[in-house]
This record gives sequence, structure tokens and C-alpha cells, in this order.
Amino acid sequence: MKKRDPQQKQQLSLFVKELVGFALLFAVLGLVVFFFFHQSIYKNIDQGLVTQKQNVLSNRKAPQFRTGGGNAQSPAPAKPNNGDTPFRTNILVFNKKGQIINAQMLGNRIYNLFINTELDKSEVNKVREVTLMSTDNTLHYFRTLLIKVPKSNSNPIYAGNYVLILENIDTDLMAVNSFKRSLLITLFFFWIVAIAIAYYLSRSSMRPIMEAWKRQRQFSANAAHELRTPLTVIQNQMEYMLTKPKTKVIDQVDPISTSLDEVRHLQTLTNRLLMLARSDSGRIEINKVEVDLQPWFKQILKPYEDIAASQHKSMVTVLKAEGSGHLDEDLIRQLLIILLDNAIKYTPAGGTVTVLTLLVRDRLTIEVRDTGAGIPDADKKRIFERFYRSDKSRNSKTGGNGLGLAIAKWIVQQHAGTITVKDNHPKGTVFSVSFKI
Ligand code: ATP
Ligand code: MG
Repeated sequence: MKKRDPQQKQQLSLFVKELVGFALLFAVLGLVVFFFFHQSIYKNIDQGLVTQKQNVLSNRKAPQFRTGGGNAQSPAPAKPNNGDTPFRTNILVFNKKGQIINAQMLGNRIYNLFINTELDKSEVNKVREVTLMSTDNTLHYFRTLLIKVPKSNSNPIYAGNYVLILENIDTDLMAVNSFKRSLLITLFFFWIVAIAIAYYLSRSSMRPIMEAWKRQRQFSANAAHELRTPLTVIQNQMEYMLTKPKTKVIDQVDPISTSLDEVRHLQTLTNRLLMLARSDSGRIEINKVEVDLQPWFKQILKPYEDIAASQHKSMVTVLKAEGSGHLDEDLIRQLLIILLDNAIKYTPAGGTVTVLTLLVRDRLTIEVRDTGAGIPDADKKRIFERFYRSDKSRNSKTGGNGLGLAIAKWIVQQHAGTITVKDNHPKGTVFSVSFKI
């Protein structure tokens, strides 16, 4: 069986959790709606019972009937009834012996329905629900209230007797059942929609995690690859030296200096990797201080003039940014070094590197121009990616790991600024950084 990778498992568990969450939510919502609907129907019915009770107790002459659907508060007079269908409100009067004494008023068919109803004196003032079967075997449902009428009641039929008020709830139950059915269909539909939503949500919430995970995996693989090369060189040089144990240090200058170069390279690489790892986890704090711009830039650029000169390249500095501004000294120094290092590295002997600083209101612009080979348009979009190196330079002997510009971009972002790259004319590259200080 094919093994699922951790991301797929995570997505599946997220999907199931979201689905269960939605299903529960809809079920609870359905139950609440149903509960309130049910309650309101029964409240109406019971209100009808109470009104009828008041009618009976307030000496109304004759029992009032309503046909189905009527309003309990304004009882309509009894209408002729067809078949065994009971009225909405029916009244049975029992004498103390439990015999129905208003059979005549009910008519034969209705009486037949209630004929087996017995008087239970312990049920006085209690609302109950009963089910009765008519002669055509149809079930009828009632909500009942039994009252004991005092002898003082002016209606001789009621006086001193027990009156059972029966509210027929057939239509109400039908309404409740049809509402239940519609609710279940709606819920079913919503559950189907929930599957789609849960699937979409689990996918979209996993996407950034998947991408970050992929990036992380790529980062580790690239880092390991970049670390392996200098380590292999150092190992080879050490093994070579071990084959000549009797030689003096002076005779091993070449392997020693090659190893030292690689150690320096490893040091830069690990520092940069560490910096990127820290920037990812937000562990680098930006510490802006006020600096006097012109002397500050001069002091950083000075050593690079010498480095450029030693490689037969000229360096021009045009420091127009005067006055003071707020920036993180360490990070902006690092940014300048990354850009200068590239400009000098990728410019052949005889070329020129120009650094320009400009301050317009509170916006500082730093421009580093060179007259090197330039960067193809397709690469311009990618050079800020980690470990990305233009093929041309990868094959050349310039060294480097493709991390400088990724760090430069992060530094600029921390200063809420922008970094752009464009062609220099007639040849070379211009990197331009701009941010508020
Ligand atoms: P390192 O991590 O040591 O800086 P790198 O210089 O290769 O290595 P970046 O500084 O990120 O890495 O630059 C990425 C790529 O962009 C380089 O490999 C090079 O191809 C290209 N590049 C950057 N600056 C220039 C430039 N001034 N001229 C030409 N190509 C450049
Ligand atoms: Mg670089």
C-alpha cells in the first residue's frame, strides 16, 4: 500500500476535523431551530387550553368549539362535522362517577371517538397528551386539560362536574413532522456543502504550510550541498598532507592555504545560513540608531576602494546623502558589503564600481553600479532567491553560494524599503536600495 506523506495525513486530519465541526454545528443549529418551532406550536395549543378553561370557569353558557386552524383566543361556533374528524377544541363533561354527561351535545360520531375516555381525578389541572382511534382506524392526537368546576358555576352542565378540554393537534403534528422532514433535507444538503467547504479549507490552509515545508526541505538540501564542497576540499588537502608526514610546513603551503580559504568560505557560509535561519524565526531584532550619514558611509567604503584597486578595478563614491538618519548600523553595513562584494566580484579587471548615496527628505537611496557582465532579464527575477546563482557565474570561478542577495532583500524588508536591479548602460548592473530613515 502506498504510504501517505505527513502533509497528506495532516490535510486529511484537518479535513475530518473541519467536517465534524461543520456537521456538529449544523446539527446543533437544526436542533435549536426545531426546538423553538416545536415550543412555539405547543405554546399556542396550551394557550388554547387555558383560554377554554377560563371560558368554562367564567360561566359561559355553552361549550365553544373551533374547527381546525382557528384561533384559541376567539372561539368560533361549532360547525357541522363530517366523518370522524374531531373539532379543534372538544369538551367532555364527566359527572363524579366518571360518566360522560354531554354526549348529546357532541353528536354520535364525535362521541364514539371519546367513548372510551376515562376520568382520572388525579389529573386535574394537568396538561396531557392522548391518542385516540376513530372508527375508520385513523389516529387522532389531543392535548388535554382536566378541570374541576365548582358547584357555584352558573352553567348547570358544568357545575360540580369534571370538564376535560381536548385540543386536537393533528394538524400541528403534521406541521411539526413536515418541518422536521424539511429540516433534515436542508441539513443533508448543508452537510454535502460542508464536505466541499471542509475540503477547500483544509487544502487552502495546508498550502502555505506545504510550501514552507518544501522551501525548508530545499533550503536544508542546498545548505548541505554547499557545505559539502569546502569540506571535501579540506579533507582532500588533509589526506594529501598525511601522505607526506616528513615534509616541513613550508613545503605544504599550498594545501594549507587552500584549506584555510575553504575554512574562511565555510565561516561566511555558516554565518549567512545562521542569519537566514534567525531571520526566518524572527529572532533578529532591528536596532536603529542615529548616524551621521556621510562619514559613516565613507568609513565603510574605504577598505573596498583598496580591494577594488588590488584587483585592478576602480571604485567611485558619490556620497550626496548628508545629515543624519536612523538605521540599523550592522544590517545596513552588511547590505552594502553584499552589494559591493557582488559588484567587485562580477566586474572584470579594468571595470568600475560606483556607489551613490542620496537623501531626498527622509528617503535614503543607495545605488551600486558596476560595469560587469550584467544579469540576464530571466535571472533578475530570481537572484533574490536563496541559493540562486546565475548559470554564467555558477560555472565561473567567482565562488559564492547565492545567499548574499537573499539576505540583502531581508535587510531591506526590515527597513520597510525596496531593492531593485536593472541594467547599467552600456553594460553592467545597477542595484538600487531605498528606505525611510
Ligand atoms: P554569495 O552568497 O557569496 O553572495 P553569490 O554572489 O553567488 O554568493 P548573491 O550575492 O545572492 O550570491 O547573487 C546571486 C547571483 O546574482 C550571483 O550568483 C550572480 O549570478 C548574480 N549577481 C549578483 N550581483 C551581480 C552583479 N553585480 N553583476 C552580475 N551578476 C550579479
Ligand atoms: Mg554575492
